[in-house]
Amino acid sequence: MASSLPSSTAIKRNLPSENLNENQPKRNHWSAGLSTALDDEGARVHKDELCTVIKDKYPKARIHLLVMPNEYIANLKSINNTHLPLLKHMLKVGKEVAEKIAAKADARGSFAHFRYGYHAIPSMSLLHMHVISQDFISDSLKTVCIYIYIVAIQIVPLVKLTKASPTSDVVDLKVGEPFEISFDVGGKEAPKVQLTKDGKEVKFTSVEGTRHVYSIPEVKPEHQGVYKLTAKNKLSTEETNVALNVTGN
Ligand code: AMP
Repeated sequence: MASSLPSSTAIKRNLPSENLNENQPKRNHWSAGLSTALDDEGARVHKDELCTVIKDKYPKARIHLLVMPNEYIANLKSINNTHLPLLKHMLKVGKEVAEKIAAKADARGSFAHFRYGYHAIPSMSLLHMHVISQDFISDSLKTVCIYIYIVAIQIVPLVKLTKASPTSDVVDLKVGEPFEISFDVGGKEAPKVQLTKDGKEVKFTSVEGTRHVYSIPEVKPEHQGVYKLTAKNKLSTEETNVALNVTGN
């Protein structure tokens, strides 16, 4: 590996977003190579109704796959909440395909462990999720520039929201009874978490690590309402509701 880092001009790339109309694939531009690869049966290792998995043409590790949606999505900037099932599916399929390949190769150690993610600044147009084994053994890994490229692959994890209590979405309590809702909210890209009651923000009673708790020692009629928890990071938004009904003694 070279002893000094390349200058910023050395690693500057013309990005697809600078060259392309993001709504339209431009098949004759180098950065549209993945659109061509998508149709190449030789490069393909999996295809289903939603996504296609191909081998990276210039792999940066022993297993390096690209998972792409079948529908044209230019890049991460073009996605919204409606794409969440698709992104979850791509992650699931990427894991399954990589693990199958690793099992076939009797992979061990870093060769059998994968990083999944989207390059923060992609060079290629067409949304693609990298699935890359952690050995980074490859003939394509020749320069510091490419090493930086690997390190720069950013995983933007989905929000993981789990309601710990109550177990049902509707709670019926009498005046004076205690009420508590607690949620675990995860995601490496820390999600912004907000609790509202009937649309108005309320403060959590306690937040410790991923656990968010809201509690009322003795409920009153005015506590009745719909409590909604929203957890949001760059890639996804998760929501859950608890309706509290308060009746007299
Ligand atoms: P990114 O920097 O996230 O846009 O990564 C693009 C990836 O696509 C790189 O890892 C390249 O090695 C890979 N690549 C470029 N052209 C092709 C192609 N025609 N077929 C498959 N992979 C490609």
